[in-house]
Parts: sequence; C-alpha cells; structure tokens
Amino acid sequence: MPFKNLISGYKSFHKNYFGGRKKLFKALVRDGQAPETLIISCSDSRTDPAVLTNSSPGDIFVVRNVAAIVPPYKTDSTHHGTSAAIEFAVRTLKVKHIVVMGHSFCGGCRALAEKEVLRGQYEFLSRWMEIGSPALEKVERELGGAPEDVKRRALEQALVLVSLGNLLTFPWIKSAVEAGVVELHGWYFDLETGELLSYRDSAKTFEEI
Ligand SMILES: [Zn+2]
Repeated sequence: MPFKNLISGYKSFHKNYFGGRKKLFKALVRDGQAPETLIISCSDSRTDPAVLTNSSPGDIFVVRNVAAIVPPYKTDSTHHGTSAAIEFAVRTLKVKHIVVMGHSFCGGCRALAEKEVLRGQYEFLSRWMEIGSPALEKVERELGGAPEDVKRRALEQALVLVSLGNLLTFPWIKSAVEAGVVELHGWYFDLETGELLSYRDSAKTFEEI
C-alpha cells in the first residue's frame, strides 16, 4: 500500500471507525485498558493479531518483534523491549492469557534456517535470532532429511515452543502459571489457508482452533 493511502485510510478510520465507536473510546479513556490477553507475534505485515482475532481497541495487548520471540529472563544492563512489555502486561495489567503466535513463511525463521543471520552480518538481528537456536537444533536433529518446506514449518512451530519455555524463565510468570492465574498458549497462523492452529500439549502438535 502506498504511503499516501495510509493518510486516506486514517481519515476513513477517524470518520467511520472512531466515529462509530465514540462510546468505546470514551470508556477506554475513562477506565483505562484492561485487556485479558497478551499476544506476542511477529512484526510481519501479514500477521496482525487484531485483524485475525477480529479484536477491538482495548481487547488485546500486543508485542510484535522479529519472529515472535520471547527472550530468556535476564536482568542485565542492556535494553529489553520485549521483556519490558511482557512485564507490564503481566505485573500491571494482570493479563490472564499469554499467546505466542508464530506463522508460516516467517522471514526471521527462514534466515535462521539458512543460518544467514547466525553468520553475524547484522548488528542486531543476529543476536536476536540466536535465541531460536534450540529450535533449529531440534529440527535438524529430528527432521534432518525432510524436505525444506516441512523443516521450515517445523522450525516455525518449534520456535513458538522455545518462546513458551522462555516465558517460564520469568519468575513471576512461572508462579502465576503454577497458581493457575495465567495460562500460556502457542498459536501458529497459516498464511496460505488463513487457519489459526493451537498447540496441544497432550498430542504434541498444532491443531486448528
Ligand atoms: Zn515472521
């Protein structure tokens, strides 16, 4: 979409969407936000969680980054944008659900699979995608000889599980999950079929919601 269309799109939003939901926006200003769900998804322009869950403003708290990755818990002196957003959602907004949503044809996962990012030519991306190394190792170990598209999909889904595991390294998430206050979910959006799959721990697979 050309940039100028964003401006006309905004004008249409302000007149029609905002104009038709003045009560909702007024309530969100008066009462603040109280979303029940945090969704961590990829920055990919094709995978907007609000669009594919048909959500309204105030419904979901969203963190988007390259490949929908949750880094492990670390309180060092570097900046942790994703961890800060997760902290705010869990400790202040007190969300009840945390969703990690991966997707098919993920560029971040492709770069990880081709080890392009791991060669270190990027200033930030390489170290970021290194977080996904355990997912890559798992897929290479278990599906070494499989066709590339099968391995790619497996990597995208394995990365969701790595992120879910990393969520549990945050002590206040681990305790909230153990107390039954917060529930974790792994989702996978299939761009070709438009289907949303959810990880079922009992079956160890992603199945349509
Ligand atoms: Zn992606």
